[in-house]
Amino acid sequence: MLQFKKEKFHSRIVLPSGLPADRIIEIRTHPITGRTCRITYSRGEEREPGTEVLPAPPPFAEDRERCPFCRTRIATHTPQLAPELCAKGRMIRGASTLFPNLFPYGRYSAVSLFDDGHFVEIGTAALQSYTDSFLNCRDYLLRVLSHDPVAVFMAITQNHLPSAGGSLLHPHLQVQADRIPANSQRFLQGRAAEYHRQSGVRLFSDYLQSERESGERYIGAAGSWQWLAAYAPEGFFEIWGILPAITSLRQATDDHWQDLARGVLNTQQFYRSLGRNGYNLGLLLLEDGSNDLELRVVLTVRSNYAPWVRSDFTGFEVMLGDMATFSAPEQTCEKARPFWQNHQ
Ligand SMILES: [Zn+2]
Repeated sequence: MLQFKKEKFHSRIVLPSGLPADRIIEIRTHPITGRTCRITYSRGEEREPGTEVLPAPPPFAEDRERCPFCRTRIATHTPQLAPELCAKGRMIRGASTLFPNLFPYGRYSAVSLFDDGHFVEIGTAALQSYTDSFLNCRDYLLRVLSHDPVAVFMAITQNHLPSAGGSLLHPHLQVQADRIPANSQRFLQGRAAEYHRQSGVRLFSDYLQSERESGERYIGAAGSWQWLAAYAPEGFFEIWGILPAITSLRQATDDHWQDLARGVLNTQQFYRSLGRNGYNLGLLLLEDGSNDLELRVVLTVRSNYAPWVRSDFTGFEVMLGDMATFSAPEQTCEKARPFWQNHQ
């Protein structure tokens, strides 16, 4: 059984006014990783510059002249896939173009554009553009698998805006495959296999069932994907989407990818309503034939891309390893739900 542990306590201080105050802190233990996080409720009162409203676009948002991802420059300014992967060099799916990362992170490392939109504000993208880009990633990863069947550790990620790590403003996904797992893939591979073997049910399905029974963090469905606020977040306003029973790229249908796109756009619209414009997305895939780890996407807000915004990762996250967030996941869920009501 998964444990949803939490402990609440007070830190007693004397306020500048001279009055004593008990500040509430909650420590939650992640049911899957065992890692702890903190909810420091009083920090919700702290002023956070740059999040009062959605920041204006950066002054160079319309400057396409130097952008290698704008359509007129793709052919001359982006690299091409090795011929053994794709004879045409770049993969096209609807408005999406996929090509290798000029600065690869691993053996197979590519970039999948959504369309020719150079600056796309959070929550305003077309559903089809996200569907096409995800399908392009899927097609690329299947090509990698047939070319190199041991490159089974795969991921689709997004760094939306430079504050989330994006190197270029032009929206895109990163897609990777490697023979050597990243830390999160290595951990999940072992955890999912052990859990499935011991309990007879899959890790994320069981997590989802617990969350559906409690109802406190369950946001809603978009097609087959089930969405919830993470119980013990490792980033701000962390949202998960789980696709029950699907453990491989080979099982996921085109409709599943479109449903994922819908949920991602719902999450973006929720983040936009909070005045946030930067986020990370990650979907990890194990194509090792293990059949234990279901598809799960994670989204977290990052610091806004705007002047005078401080980083969301402080010494506490970087050095102590505990995310210290301001608001309870149950509040995140309550605020997010309306964005799923009309877009399921
Ligand atoms: Zn561009």
